[in-house]
Amino acid sequence: MKIDIRNVTKRFGDFTALNGVDLEVKSGELVALLGPSGSGKTTLLRIIAGLEWPDTGHVMFDGTDALSRSVRERHVGFVFQHYALFRHMSVFENIAFGLRVRPRRQRLSEEKIRQKVDELLDLVQLKWLADRYPSQLSGGQRQRIALARALAIEPRVLLLDEPFGALDAKVRKELRRWLRSLHEDIHVTSVFVTHDQEEALEVADRVVVMDKGRIEQVGAPEDVHDRPATAFVHEFIGESLMLPITVQDQRVHVEGRPLSIDPQGAANGAARLFVRPHEIDVVAADGATLTGVVKRVHGLGAARRVEVLLSAPETLVEIDTPRNLPVEVGATIGLKPQRYRIFADPH
Ligand code: ATP
Repeated sequence: MKIDIRNVTKRFGDFTALNGVDLEVKSGELVALLGPSGSGKTTLLRIIAGLEWPDTGHVMFDGTDALSRSVRERHVGFVFQHYALFRHMSVFENIAFGLRVRPRRQRLSEEKIRQKVDELLDLVQLKWLADRYPSQLSGGQRQRIALARALAIEPRVLLLDEPFGALDAKVRKELRRWLRSLHEDIHVTSVFVTHDQEEALEVADRVVVMDKGRIEQVGAPEDVHDRPATAFVHEFIGESLMLPITVQDQRVHVEGRPLSIDPQGAANGAARLFVRPHEIDVVAADGATLTGVVKRVHGLGAARRVEVLLSAPETLVEIDTPRNLPVEVGATIGLKPQRYRIFADPH
């Protein structure tokens, strides 16, 4: 099912939690809402669910108004960070719950319920746990059962709010791979809230980067990482080396001194130059854009992390260099960005 969110604004008293949000989630897509704490991710998810109503704007499910429908009428499945499994019910009964509470006319026979729960247990690969109680499961198993329970009602939309947030890093990593492959099997339209960029980039078809109640960028994981649309996205996703600059008549200056780079059409005024640590080369001093002194060299594997104290502006930056490049602590080196992006400062 396709979700259309149009110009949604939500205030809590004087505070604007969502500010003119437009988003389209395609049918069968898994979209991640990614942003810092307080950016409005959960509020947007709750509005899609029908647990919260916007002050202005529209939410459409397959082209029809969703706001006039209750949570139940929207056919959404939920998975939250803190597994809401019923403690006094077995795994089997937890998954069967949504099927048993259906209106009488839609209720399935006991045999059909058993068959359906078996299929779901197969899907989440936990058939052997059917008779256990939630307290006898690991955190990761509980979240997989919570997902099976959410899927039992055959939701038109699956909403996941930091579903792996309470788990340790290793289990979290396993579960996000598992969720990705599960999604490739079932293709239910899904919205996944996280503040963990690695998780969003790995799990989602598209990532929605949010800040202060607004959408900063929507794109495939490689788009938001390699082609950030705003300074916020550049700093929030991946690592950045940032220098405050000024642009004047198609010339770039840093601390009043000219910097030999193309301003890429940036308007006159204060701006910021962003480079990823792997997008900068070590070069001879005469061809360098910036110079600095090597402070520390570390890192394993093919790339090496080098900390350089730039002379102007006096800033410590980190760059990645190939292992075979000789770089010594204390040496003065030249740097030249191969790729970079310039964003004007907001007025
Ligand atoms: P987190 O990652 O911390 O969960 P989030 O991006 O999901 O953050 P929201 O939970 O959507 O953020 O909250 C957005 C803002 O709205 C926050 O500043 C929060 O304090 C505020 N907010 C949310 N719900 C309410 C409410 N019921 N009453 C007042 N303020 C609220």
